[in-house]
Amino acid sequence: MIVVRCKLCGTEVKSPHSCGCPNMTTVTGDTFTAVDLNSVVVVNNKTEQDGFTSQDLQWQEQRRKRKVRKLNFEVR
Ligand SMILES: [Zn+2]
Repeated sequence: MIVVRCKLCGTEVKSPHSCGCPNMTTVTGDTFTAVDLNSVVVVNNKTEQDGFTSQDLQWQEQRRKRKVRKLNFEVR
């Protein structure tokens, strides 16, 4: 599980929550999504701190686009 901080609103976010600001920083399990990933800082990522490369971030971003759509269905 990871903890991230949204630079826009300064909120630390843990799974399964989102920060609530327009950047929509959302942590789900061991992944996180946001409108602008550059505005998100990983605060605590014990398992993958060294392995979290920009490639991973890129993958996250691609995944986010699908995930946002999926989340839209789940939001009530
Ligand atoms: Zn925020």
